Amino acid sequence: MFTDEERIKGSAKLPAHSRHSHAPLKLLAEMAAEHGRELVALFYDTLLRDQEAAQFLNHAVVQERLSSSLIEWLTQLFSGQDIRDSPEKQARQKIIGEVHARIKIPVHLVMTGALVIKTRLAELLQGQAVDPLVGIRALQLADARMDTAVMLISQSYVKDTTARARLDEAYRLFSLDQDAAVDKETQRASLMEWSQNTLFALLQAGPGGGLLRLGDSAFGLWLRHRAQFMFEQSAQFSTVVRLVERIDEMLLPELVAPRKRQDGSSALADLRAAVDEISFLVADLFQTLSTMEGGRDPLTRALNRRFLPAILGREVTFAKENGTALSVMLVDIDHFKAINDRHGHQVGDEVLRQVAQVIVGNVRATDFVFRYGGEEFLIVLVETGIEAAANIAERIRADMEGHIFETGSSGGLSVTASIGIALHSGHPDQKFLIKAADEALYRAKAAGRNTVELAPIYGEGGKGIWPLAT
Ligand code: GH3
Ligand code: MG
Ligand code: MG
Repeated sequence: MFTDEERIKGSAKLPAHSRHSHAPLKLLAEMAAEHGRELVALFYDTLLRDQEAAQFLNHAVVQERLSSSLIEWLTQLFSGQDIRDSPEKQARQKIIGEVHARIKIPVHLVMTGALVIKTRLAELLQGQAVDPLVGIRALQLADARMDTAVMLISQSYVKDTTARARLDEAYRLFSLDQDAAVDKETQRASLMEWSQNTLFALLQAGPGGGLLRLGDSAFGLWLRHRAQFMFEQSAQFSTVVRLVERIDEMLLPELVAPRKRQDGSSALADLRAAVDEISFLVADLFQTLSTMEGGRDPLTRALNRRFLPAILGREVTFAKENGTALSVMLVDIDHFKAINDRHGHQVGDEVLRQVAQVIVGNVRATDFVFRYGGEEFLIVLVETGIEAAANIAERIRADMEGHIFETGSSGGLSVTASIGIALHSGHPDQKFLIKAADEALYRAKAAGRNTVELAPIYGEGGKGIWPLAT
């Protein structure tokens, strides 16, 4: 392996008249000493323009510390040995990467910052009264050294981020195990308490009195600081958050300053319904969690969405390596909210259970059926081309339409579903595949529901070629 200096000498083919081989490096060291502050300030501006990074960097102490360590970094980089010859310098880049991972400054920003420094350095070097060839060599050297440093930084950044994600997951499971049962009862009780206090305050003070927002209650606190962490991936959780917002932003203000509603409905009845729904969803969230270790959703027996990244990631790799087809299907129940509203959540749950049965009955045992959202299922169809996938989807759609959902008290109900399917195009990122299926599902909804839509097939050059058999 060549050192930076050797590579530059070889590639630049510069005449030998700039005799001092240390001259470019010396020039760089001078630049770092003279313009270090300015270069680092530019680096900073890049970071500060990123919202996430800015949150952290806006602290004066941090800025002062980081500035001086950045100047030090630049000075070290622009003097002495090549990084690849210096274990000490390598170790330093590794630490920088770890720090950035820990404080969640995305590594791409570090790369952008380094680019900004290089650009400014080029301008500064042009203005120097030195042999232009020495200037060019200095720039090439700075380029090579910064690239090596940033490469080492991003290596350790990625390693550290992966380890951290694993730790987060372990902590999440641990904290769930600890107190899920107690937490569930405590939080439902605190929701009920808020609801009673609110009614009481209304009765006592009448409209015009101050009401405590649900978001500001003990329940709201729990939602932000614990539930967020425990349930963040789940569709039900975001429904709960939306309901709390609706209560605080719309219903409470209306209760404080009542107005006559056109349709004769009442804000109080809406409040009660919203609280009931939150209570139901929270119980459901805990229920799902309690069996999560088993990997299956207790209601539908479908796989938990938590395992989707691992399983789909593996299948995408398999398809790429073996040249096999892979399809993803998203099934979303049509107007499911209306079923809940009309017949209650228990009936809704029973319908969900039977929908899962219809799906499972139409796919092979080797396919993966996930509960993807509240009333949405994602099916990974292994070794299945788009035509076969379309046939399966159509079968599911038709079965669903013909099925009488026996629900006990509410009798037999009819339910339909909309389906989007996508074929793996070779794109390595599984999110791309899910997004394609999701867009197809969206079109199925827009087309009037109870229908199947296919994502366009991507061929060479990323152009949509349709139709195309597999
Ligand atoms: P669309 O045809 O556009 O899909 O309409 P939709 O009503 O099905 O869609 P929307 O997303 O508005 O509503 C989904 C509803 O599913 C809202 C939510 O309360 C309900 N839901 C989510 N999870 C569960 C659950 O586990 N059990 C029950 N009973 N209902 C649930
Ligand atoms: Mg739906
Ligand atoms: Mg949905």
